[in-house]
Amino acid sequence: MLRQIFLICALLLGSIIELLVGPTASASVPAALAVDLSVANLEMTPSIQYLDNATNADNSLTLVRGRRTTVRMSIGVFGTGAVAGVDGQLEVFINGVAMVGSPFSPENGPITAQLSPVNREETHYTLNFEFEIPGFSIVGPATSDVKLIATVDPAGTIAESNEGNNSMVLDHLGFECRRSPSITYVPINYTFAGETDPANTGLPSVIKMLPGIGDDFIWHTYPIPDPPNYYAAPVPALNFSTDVDTTSATLLNDLEATRALLFPQPDYIYGWLPGNPFFGNGQAAGIGTGNAAFGNTQDSPNRYQRTFAHEIGHLLGLSHNGSLLDPEVGFDGGFLGHEVTATDDCDASGVQGTKCRTLKDFMFAGQLTTAAWIDPITYEFIAAHSLVQKLSCSLITPPFLSLEPREFFLIPGQFVRPGCEAVDCCPGCPGPGFLTHIYELRGPVTLTPENLEGTRRIELLDAEGKVLFAQNFEVSFDTTDSEEPANVVPFTLFVPKVENVQQVVLLSEGKVVDRQVRSPNLPIIRILAPKQGETLKDQKVITWEAEDKDGDELRFSLQYSPDGGKSFVPLAVNLTDQKFVLDPSQIPGSRGQAGLIRLIATDGLNTATTEVNRLLVSGKPPQVQILKPVSSVAGESATVRQGSPLILIGQAYDAEDGFLPEESLQWLIGEKRLGKGRVLQVDTKTLPVGEHKITLTGIDRDQNRVDAAEMIIINDKTRSE
Ligand SMILES: [Zn+2]
Repeated sequence: MLRQIFLICALLLGSIIELLVGPTASASVPAALAVDLSVANLEMTPSIQYLDNATNADNSLTLVRGRRTTVRMSIGVFGTGAVAGVDGQLEVFINGVAMVGSPFSPENGPITAQLSPVNREETHYTLNFEFEIPGFSIVGPATSDVKLIATVDPAGTIAESNEGNNSMVLDHLGFECRRSPSITYVPINYTFAGETDPANTGLPSVIKMLPGIGDDFIWHTYPIPDPPNYYAAPVPALNFSTDVDTTSATLLNDLEATRALLFPQPDYIYGWLPGNPFFGNGQAAGIGTGNAAFGNTQDSPNRYQRTFAHEIGHLLGLSHNGSLLDPEVGFDGGFLGHEVTATDDCDASGVQGTKCRTLKDFMFAGQLTTAAWIDPITYEFIAAHSLVQKLSCSLITPPFLSLEPREFFLIPGQFVRPGCEAVDCCPGCPGPGFLTHIYELRGPVTLTPENLEGTRRIELLDAEGKVLFAQNFEVSFDTTDSEEPANVVPFTLFVPKVENVQQVVLLSEGKVVDRQVRSPNLPIIRILAPKQGETLKDQKVITWEAEDKDGDELRFSLQYSPDGGKSFVPLAVNLTDQKFVLDPSQIPGSRGQAGLIRLIATDGLNTATTEVNRLLVSGKPPQVQILKPVSSVAGESATVRQGSPLILIGQAYDAEDGFLPEESLQWLIGEKRLGKGRVLQVDTKTLPVGEHKITLTGIDRDQNRVDAAEMIIINDKTRSE
């Protein structure tokens, strides 16, 4: 606002000077048509941004390399009324070099520029540009120094009293490198007999879980590069048959165990439920203290996408808040096709690029997608998070943290919410806090960091009661996507293996609440099927024998390695049965006959393992998807205005190879090759107006080729919106 007042003053001063010194060249405009356009402001929004904020500088929220950034140009109008037919351009320089395709045309325009002030919620009153400073595959300094020159009416088609004030320059904008956390997902096969709604049982919708759909809200709001490292775990669905309302902590323990048995290991794992059988919409394993979460796949409208962003927010360490975006206005740079229309004002339920100031931050519990966006505080929290920070752009960041295999204890357990003493909100729970089956494992793992303020504690003791290892930790009951706290919450600790552990003790606020004492005998186990050397096709029942001389109740987990033990995926965790039906189409193909199945049995603390090897499983083609451009309206092609960059974003994950490398992703428009990579920005000035087919081809190491395609329309630049 101050800037606008200053501009108006400057313009007035200019007019006074003209009056005093007589007509100049620019004053040849007839007085009746006297109009002057200027660039009043530039807002750079990767999803949310500060502008004209009382306490924060303009454009001071972190700008991210490799992420779509929208520049909204406000037009200053000096005259007697709105001015029609106003267009603009944006020049972008990275470290002094003009970006390919620069100068860019806005996605919308020409527009009718309004007499100020311009309400930021009115997207169609600003010229909106979108571009992406390369980040993922481009080496270079950690911060790109970006210069923008925004110009209104660059062609000079509108006669103005002053043509000399049509540009605004923003220089030395720092675009920083960030990392996208790796998040894998598994479908939950929910078979609780007491669930009466068929929409809430069985398997979740395959479509809703997909990259670009399930994680849609995350990649449109989080300050991370395109595309998120979100992928389908190459594992069977997780079977869950007890009431999720009362045993959600067990589901989270199972998800944590599933992640622990994955190698390479993602930062987080997310389980998708069919429909919405859980009272809390979703739940995370802690606030900054867990690695697993689950949520619904409920429409009406798209609750599931926001729940996913919310629960991952909890895992990152965010608590619930009551924040609105106000006074800021968000913008969805991933939105394409209908983002700016003549009627695009702030309608909270509307489908649009602009995100009203009345929307709530997604950590506000229990909202629908259309009621939520990201507020600046949440945005900056994530941008500064250790999983999102990146030391340098000079290395291509692998999606997975590099971890060496080591021996560790996986110690799961649960706590019941205080207040549940009166009403039994945890039927069958053995006490207010308890341990479940502990595993001794070997694999790549991030150990649980010590939380010195934690009120819960684990102690590993030897036979004499000497403490060999101890660590404080914390749990939280406010981890659902609901105002309602969870009744029972999980914890899963990954602690280093120490020798001679005789018992594991669980404490809460200094008091012992449970202990697991090592029994004299290891479980004795033997895999009956499959046999060594078998080829696994169709459904295969894995069966085993098990015996425990102490009569301990056993739990079983199954791992599969496609490469003789270098990498692993879990097949099932914490089974009580001695069989598991495997569908080999859901797991990675073996490297030759190097497939191996490992059975792990625990009696509570003693862990036994056995393996069957030389198994053959056939390879799988990659999953290839175009994430952008995709129309926001089903059945319609996305549109791009000629001169505005065409930003292509794709993702491909292969069960055997993992994320396909940049050079294995080829983009085409029609038959013409555009380039390679997960992200590609194309200059549309060289592309003909009309409808085109965009194809993304992904090729895995076994030369399996998979195509994904989308239709786009390149609109004539001169066509008015
Ligand atoms: Zn929550």
